Amino acid sequence: MSQCYESTRDKLVSKKASEAILQGLSEDGGLFVLRNLNELHIHIESLIDDDYLSIATKVLGVFLNDFSEEEVRMCVDKAYTNKFSAKEITPLVELKDAHVLELFHGPTSAFKDVALSILPQFTKTALTKNEMTEDILILTATSGDTGKAALEGYKDVDRTKIIIFYPSGGVSKVQETQMITQEGKNTGVCAIDGNFDDAQSGVKELFLNETFKRDLLEKNIKLSSANSINIGRLIPQMVYYFYAYKTLVNQGKINCGDKVNFVVPTGNFGNILAGYYAKQLGLPVNKLVCAANENNVLYDFLTTGTYNKNREFLKTISPSMDILISSNLERLLYYVSDCDNEYVTQLMTSLKTTGTYTVNERVLAKLKETFSAGYASNEETQKTIQDVYVKENYLMDPHTAVGYKVLLENKDKEHVSVVLSTASPYKFTKSVYEALHGPTNDDEFTLMKKLHAETNVVIPENLNGLEDKIVLHDDSIEKETMKSYIMEKAGQLV
Ligand SMILES: *Cc1c(COP(=O)(O)O)cnc(C)c1O
Repeated sequence: MSQCYESTRDKLVSKKASEAILQGLSEDGGLFVLRNLNELHIHIESLIDDDYLSIATKVLGVFLNDFSEEEVRMCVDKAYTNKFSAKEITPLVELKDAHVLELFHGPTSAFKDVALSILPQFTKTALTKNEMTEDILILTATSGDTGKAALEGYKDVDRTKIIIFYPSGGVSKVQETQMITQEGKNTGVCAIDGNFDDAQSGVKELFLNETFKRDLLEKNIKLSSANSINIGRLIPQMVYYFYAYKTLVNQGKINCGDKVNFVVPTGNFGNILAGYYAKQLGLPVNKLVCAANENNVLYDFLTTGTYNKNREFLKTISPSMDILISSNLERLLYYVSDCDNEYVTQLMTSLKTTGTYTVNERVLAKLKETFSAGYASNEETQKTIQDVYVKENYLMDPHTAVGYKVLLENKDKEHVSVVLSTASPYKFTKSVYEALHGPTNDDEFTLMKKLHAETNVVIPENLNGLEDKIVLHDDSIEKETMKSYIMEKAGQLV
């Protein structure tokens, strides 16, 4: 009998995978988890000759325990066939000091496409499976990339509506333009007066607001989330860890069984947590290296055991990592505390009331077994973009550069290292251009053309001509009015 999902905060919660996906967040505020992760196992040897889609089908099948194999395969096919501009889906590029796993060849040029191309397929399958009669409303806060990737994934998917909130002035021009020009009769986009944490906590509160949910149900609408708190968003991210590994074996860079480091530019802790899951399933991982920007809460936490969000929120040139509350860390705390729901609840209560918590020695030691951490300032990030371009003719975006800087600073000659590249350089054109040439007043779209002329790196199709698209969304609200905004907007979407 396969396991059910429980809440990180309550082991008596018991959900099938499809229910956990539809619900997003547990009623008690916890996240859905499988208790005995290490009972699940993927045989690496069995993946060596597989392509991305086959690996995905095998890995996802383990977690989607109430989906048939055929259903999983159908979701995978719909998500990845002809949707990505690289036939490998996530190609691995070799540089001097590391391999770069390019996760940005999806429909919106961000790594979040990998998960958000398939989550809507899970949602649709889960709705049918559970014979639900309500429509689903996806509510999501975005630090920039999730928003567009989710909009694109859910656009015109039957029986779903989606509303995205983004921090006003907190995303790049390209990111904002991508979102406010979004097509689809079921899509809504709105700026929030505040930063990403404000937007995220606003959405999280609504998920726990019973009257709000009852009011929506009267309109035959049920809430769900596309943030990486949703287990259906997290698990597709494991696939490329396996894919990178098997590619290294195929290329003769490692022998099957050799351990590998993964360096992950981290914000909400979803991407790197998927690496932890992959390791629990048997992927030979040496270290997972958490790379942060100047908002280095996670660096402090993984080195000292104290998480403290009471600090200034800094706007950096890697805005998708400007986060002080990393939601998915809760799942890791659950596992490293040996699934102690009460302990996790205690820590989360402390975080909510005081903004800080400290884990015990045993937990910290366990964290350090698997994780190491580093961070990069804006200046170091810029210098890395420039150095790597000049020396190796490889153009990376600022988030990837944060990872690369942390890699260079923690050189490990014994293991092959893979840096996860989370965005196309063209999603953050201005920062990339300025890293190469210094400050400029040109707008991002002019710079895109200049950067292309200079480097010959192809502009992704979805970003080419973006500036000429019609703006279809111009809403902007105070975060206190999110609730009434949603009630009104949900009624207009079809
Ligand atoms: C979202 C994002 C990240 C952070 O990933 P998490 O899973 O939130 O840790 C890093 N880089 C880019 C470009 C992103 O969009």
